Amino acid sequence: MFESLSDRLDSVFKKFKGQGRLDENNIQQGLREVRLALLEADVNFKVVKDFTERVKERCLGQDVQKSLTPGQQVIKIVNDEMTQLLGGETQDVDLRGNPSVFMMVGLQGSGKTTSAAKLALHFRRQRKMKPYLVPADVYRPAAIDQLQTLGRQLDVPVFPSEVGMDPVDICKQGIEAAREAGCNVVLLDTAGRLQIDEKLMDELANIKDACTPNEILFVADAMIGQEAVNVAKSFDEKLDISGVILTKMDGDARGGAALSIKSVTGKSLKFVGMGEKVSDLEVFHPDRIASRILGMGDVLTLIEKAQSSIDQEEAEEIGKKFQRAEFDFEDFRTQMRRLKKLGSIEGLLKLIPGMRGLKDKIGELSVPEKDMARIEAIISSMTMEERRNPSVINPSRKARIAKGSGVAVSDVNQLVKNFEQMRKMMKKMMGGGSKGKKPRMPR
Ligand code: GDP
Repeated sequence: MFESLSDRLDSVFKKFKGQGRLDENNIQQGLREVRLALLEADVNFKVVKDFTERVKERCLGQDVQKSLTPGQQVIKIVNDEMTQLLGGETQDVDLRGNPSVFMMVGLQGSGKTTSAAKLALHFRRQRKMKPYLVPADVYRPAAIDQLQTLGRQLDVPVFPSEVGMDPVDICKQGIEAAREAGCNVVLLDTAGRLQIDEKLMDELANIKDACTPNEILFVADAMIGQEAVNVAKSFDEKLDISGVILTKMDGDARGGAALSIKSVTGKSLKFVGMGEKVSDLEVFHPDRIASRILGMGDVLTLIEKAQSSIDQEEAEEIGKKFQRAEFDFEDFRTQMRRLKKLGSIEGLLKLIPGMRGLKDKIGELSVPEKDMARIEAIISSMTMEERRNPSVINPSRKARIAKGSGVAVSDVNQLVKNFEQMRKMMKKMMGGGSKGKKPRMPR
């Protein structure tokens, strides 16, 4: 997500770092590159123009803080403005009423059905609610089956819609059935078309009138870029949408839609889809995404990711250790064991401040499954003291560990060496991002 934009902006900021002070000339030059980077990311041109003008004004104005270097000043201003561009404050959803009703709208293939199921899981996990799914796309028979399958998988009840039924009736009956079943949040999965058409819009407007949903969430495929923004505008004109879900942000979408949608439609991005699995949905936090784009990492999301599979106290501890680069072999093994739940090492590393710049080396950071098993065996053959304090691991201990885990002494050597190097590297990066040797995951 946003990778090439991040890289481009990173190189602009690097140039500022070398400057003694900010003046009209270097600001102009730097912002020209920021503008190009945003246009290349497929951000709406008018949005780009307004954005760079605001940044320029602030760079030249009183706003500049003397305590920061020119590079830091520009990054801070761009970060603030980018947060605003992405919508400012995180927008919560309206969960009033019993049940609260969410209507998913969008073009066919945008990810409505998948997002309905993802939201059901989200509300159950994060809000402790009881969700109910209503398939109301009677034109694409597979859509009903698809939602029923997802419902079974999640153990969420699904209204038994049938192809011949009227979508408005389905939704009304669905809400009633949810109430009877004691569910307090209903997700209506409406029909989509390949393009906007009047008949579809009328049907959606009728559902809206009949069901007065708390929210109408427009679901858009991030991969179609500016077109997603245009379609959002049309849906908004007809239905007055309350928010947007951008899906397929895990793909190589350049980010233009996410960065333009609020300015162009006035409606906020509320969630992003980050993959095909039902758990791949993130609440959209403008400030965190801005920091991620600017390579400042997103430790909060990292911690939340950890929280969803482990308890809070432990998750916070891990987050802190990541930041202070203080984790030892014991933590490392615990992490490895949980990696499957947390996602890939690469995914996690990208959320850590300073790691993004090393993205090109991330190939080297990934550890194949079989190496993971070997590393785990080596670490498990260490005593607790050795795990907590790797510096005590002398040659005779290494020989014992190698024997215990069935590997060569050189494997143990390498693991210990790489681990130390990685810790040093992380400490360095947290302390100011100076260059160093490439980090390597222990193997
Ligand atoms: P609908 O026609 O709007 O209901 O779209 P679907 O929910 O059927 O989704 C269309 C396709 O996009 C399916 O193959 C989904 O698995 C896929 N999809 C949906 N959301 C995401 C996402 O966030 N990431 C990825 N990679 N694929 C997604």
